[in-house]
Order: sequence, then structure tokens, then C-alpha cells
Amino acid sequence: MKFETRAIHVGQEPDPLTGAVMPPIYATSTFAQTRPGETLGYDYTRSGNPNFTRLARTLASLEGGEHATVFASGMAAITAVISTLRSGDLVLAEENVYGCTFRIFAQVFEKFGVRVQYVDFAEPSSYSSVADAEPALVWLESPTNPMLKILDIAAISAEASRSGIPVLVDNTFASPYFQRPLALGATLSLSSTTKYVNGHSDCLGGVVVTNDAGWQDKMIFAQKAVGLNPSPFDTWLVGRGVKTLAIRMRRHHDNALAIAQRLEDCAAIRWVRHPFLASHPQVELARRQMDGGSGIVTFEFEADLETTRDFVSGLSLFALAESLGGIESLVDHPASMTHASIPRAEREKVGISDGLVRLSVGIEALEDLLADLEAGLGRAGLGSLS
Ligand SMILES: *Cc1c(COP(=O)(O)O)cnc(C)c1O
Repeated sequence: MKFETRAIHVGQEPDPLTGAVMPPIYATSTFAQTRPGETLGYDYTRSGNPNFTRLARTLASLEGGEHATVFASGMAAITAVISTLRSGDLVLAEENVYGCTFRIFAQVFEKFGVRVQYVDFAEPSSYSSVADAEPALVWLESPTNPMLKILDIAAISAEASRSGIPVLVDNTFASPYFQRPLALGATLSLSSTTKYVNGHSDCLGGVVVTNDAGWQDKMIFAQKAVGLNPSPFDTWLVGRGVKTLAIRMRRHHDNALAIAQRLEDCAAIRWVRHPFLASHPQVELARRQMDGGSGIVTFEFEADLETTRDFVSGLSLFALAESLGGIESLVDHPASMTHASIPRAEREKVGISDGLVRLSVGIEALEDLLADLEAGLGRAGLGSLS
């Protein structure tokens, strides 16, 4: 079955009891047992619920994996993976990871003795550090946020697997429609389903998908032992949202690429990034590894902090908000919003300057989005699109 069909049918079967075409929401904390210790498959929602089982089947299928575990948020999924490490273990991580991933390592897990070393995994010369550092885990994210750097998942995974080191890929930005890390050799594909997978900005969720039964046992254990489970209602929402993932992603990609191309002509903009833009330094790799470039566009104004803040505050269709991946367009000023938790020096090292703007391009009509950007540029005194 094709991706579009699996999104609508795997884990999405009618309710066997009543025939309800839309599955019920199992809003229950506990399940009656037939005899002590004998259950119909579930005992307590922290360790499992039919809504989790359904969504896990859908997402495992879309990521091309055997097993999936769903969590309360992307950060809960990240916590589950890190909770498997021991004091003294080293994580070798991409230096441009998601801001809250950086923060959870620095402010939560490093004090339990988990060590993290950051490298620029876009540089092939960094691959040798995988064998040299002997990490317990390699932590990748591609495309990265907000610079949209592309990491060669297949090459890094091949290097790590020679030393038996597991590789995690945060696949949130691409979504399984555009990128399937397990097929590229990764051990774990993690996503914040809050973003593209759900796509409607109405709940939070996370998932870890793997073909490794040992890792799956650890994820199920973390879900119940650490209390990282989602709510039945939220998993039901994600199960509803994901049905349209394919059609949404194609539209996100088309709108974002067209906007990126137009922004490139704007005199007040230094550079524009989108993975499939011809000027992206790794466009070849992006086209090889991904089936589309997704809906995020990042660019840098030749302007000071105040002018940049005027622009992002003055748009009307692009809501000024954190997060991304919903059907509605959003604009973010990383230096003062999503990436404010990263110390300035670290932030600037990876290119997050005061003039940097990130768009999460939605699925509205392209003409309307372009008109909003054009008006916003004019209002902030930044010229026009052409
Ligand atoms: C949003 C995000 C997360 C965290 O997910 P939440 O659902 O907000 O907890 C992790 N990684 C990336 C790349 C994200 O964009």
C-alpha cells in the first residue's frame, strides 16, 4: 500500500465492536481485569491504551519501521531516549540541534552525568569522531532548526554502525512523508508529532520508531516507568491529523519553495534557505535524501534587531508564534523566541543572528501569503519582493 493509503487505513480500522468508522476515544485511566493479572490487553493507561496502539501502528507504518511508541510531546520522546543512558555515557550530537534538546541535555541530564559533545555533522571530516569518541548514542537532526542544514544520514549511520553505535534522527522537520531515517540506516527515528504529523496545532505529541526490538522494549518501559504517556484524546487527534499528511506536505513544500524563491530577489535579505532551493549549499544531498523540502523557510535581513522585530510583528496572515508544521502560516524570530534559551555565543556560532527570521509556511493560497509578506516588508521599510 502507498503512503497516502496507509496514513488513512493502517491503525485506522473501524471499531470492531460497533463498526464506528472513526475510532472511539478510550478516555479511561484503568481497565477491568477478568481475573487478577488477566487483562484484555490493557491494565492502566500510563502503560497502554487502545488509542496509543492505533497511532503507534499508523506511525510505524509511515516511518517504515516495525515498532513505534507514542509520547506526550516531542520532549517526552526525547526524555524517553535519554533516560536509557547511564551516568558517564557520551552523546555525540549535531551542534545545531533543536533548542530544547540542547537545554534538556545542559540543564537536566548533564547533572546526572550524561556527557554531550557537539560536532558539525555537515562536515564529513567530523565522521571520524564517531569511532574516536565511542559515544553511547549519535544524535542527529535533519534538516536542522532553524538553519536547515542537511546531514547525510546514510553516511553517518554507516560510520556509526561499523562501531555498533546507535543513531537517532530527529525527523520532525521533514516528516515521514519526505524522509524515512530508518531506511537510511538510523536506529531510531524520533518526531515531535505536534508539528507536521498532526498538522493542526491543536495538541502535543511525540513518537519514537525503530526496527530494533531491544530499543522498543526500552521505549515502552520509559513510557510507563517515567510517565511520558500521551492522553487518549491527543493521540486520537494526531491519528485524525496524520490522515492528510501527504497532501499537506506537498502543499507546504510548494508554497515554501515559491516564497523562498521570491525572497531571494529582495534587496534587504542577505540569504534565504530552503532545502530544495538551488542556492542551498547541500541541495544535492537534500534531493537525494528527501522527497521534498518541507515548509520551513529561513532568511537573514540586512537589518538591525528593531527593524527585524517590526517586520515579524507586522504580518497579518503569518501569526507571530513559536512552533511550526501546522496548516496555518507562522513567523518566528529565533533569537528572541524559539532559540532564546541558547546562550548568545552558542547561538551566533550556529548563525542565529538578530536579523534571522523563520517562516513556517502553511497551506493557504500562495498569492495571499506573498501579499502579506510584501505588505510587511513595506511596513518595516525593508523594500519589496522584487
Ligand atoms: C518541537 C520540536 C521538538 C519538541 O517537541 P514538542 O512536541 O514541542 O515537545 C523536538 N524537536 C524538534 C526538531 C522540534 O521542532
